[in-house]
Amino acid sequence: MITDWHPGQLDSDLSGADFDTLAVRAGYRRSPEGEHGEAIFTTSSYVFRDAAHAAACFAGSEPGNVYSRYTNPTVRTFEERLAALEGAEKAVATASGMSAIMATVMSFCSAGDHVLVSRSIFGATVSLFDKYFKRFGIEVTYVAIDDPQAWKAACQSNTRLLYLESPSNPLAELADIGALAAIAHEAGALLVVDNCFCTPALQQPLKLGADVVIHSATKYIDGQGRCLGGAVAGSKELMTEVVGFLRTAGPSMSPFNAWVFLKGLETLRLRMRAHCASSMALALWLEQQPQVEKVYYAGLDSHPQHTLACRQQPGGFGAVVSFDIRGGQEAAWRFIDATRMISITANLGDAKTTITHPASTTHGRLKPEERAGMGIGDGLLRIAVGLEELEDIRADLQRGLNAAG
Ligand SMILES: *Cc1c(COP(=O)(O)O)cnc(C)c1O
Repeated sequence: MITDWHPGQLDSDLSGADFDTLAVRAGYRRSPEGEHGEAIFTTSSYVFRDAAHAAACFAGSEPGNVYSRYTNPTVRTFEERLAALEGAEKAVATASGMSAIMATVMSFCSAGDHVLVSRSIFGATVSLFDKYFKRFGIEVTYVAIDDPQAWKAACQSNTRLLYLESPSNPLAELADIGALAAIAHEAGALLVVDNCFCTPALQQPLKLGADVVIHSATKYIDGQGRCLGGAVAGSKELMTEVVGFLRTAGPSMSPFNAWVFLKGLETLRLRMRAHCASSMALALWLEQQPQVEKVYYAGLDSHPQHTLACRQQPGGFGAVVSFDIRGGQEAAWRFIDATRMISITANLGDAKTTITHPASTTHGRLKPEERAGMGIGDGLLRIAVGLEELEDIRADLQRGLNAAG
């Protein structure tokens, strides 16, 4: 019992609390109603006691909400809980994962600056850098994710950011986050890691030396495919810049979505454990199948960076398993069309298992030689393993294997 409890005080004493405890309780300040479940504050603005109070809140000399584009109690609870899980001083919520990336680059880069970007990143992130940031005078160089020497060699005097996702999608290649953090800092740049595939339950990039962590909360943080959202996390000093951009430019998170993500965080590690356990079992099983040429999953001994994965992702290897099926695109499409439960969609981070053929969907706009250069073959399939019973997922994949060859 907390004997001196009063409304507006943090919900519980969490000093020294573990990840799962923080996931359930961090960041909540109960209202005078004494509610147990977190309240959703659907309000765009806030009222003041008197004119002087209004002036003080606007000037920032007294703490207080002014307008929900700046702060909102439900959004703040999500931010504080995520920050606790990432080991960040501060997290800032955004309307989507893409707006988290936009806010980061807009906060730290100007015309004439240079950024290094991993070649293996989310398609929309490539478009954001190539179509938009380049137009505003930001120079972009793409680098192989798994070659620290290439990152080092590509650094210039005007390099401001090193940007990556690890493990990569769909081929599960890893970046050595600690090594790249050292390279970034030597060059006077920041290391930014999109931690969407791992979540803090599997990997905490800030503890490995990264400066900024980015999330698409749309994926595993929600975990049930309901809402769009994102976040940026890091030191107070860096996040002050991001807050400044967001409150001015406007892609803030809605309080309803923040509430959904808050509830998602409560079960994050439990869900990630289950996602990872099924993924590992399926990856091992797929490796044994004659129709399968190669499986890409960092949990396998056959993965060239398995040792790094064990060190860098102590919580697990993730829930995206890709594999090459013998027989190219025709066999891959027969596989997909023979499944009867798994959803045919490119989304991931859902309780529902999904399957996609990258060469004709997520990477379909690239030229065949570009795809080949990235290692995306015509027979490649990607599954994002959900939370259905493992044997039911396996049975559906078996239908696919039977049809493929
Ligand atoms: C989905 C995704 C994004 C974009 O997130 P949205 O919430 O869809 O805007 C960014 N990075 C990665 C790795 C993603 O999977």
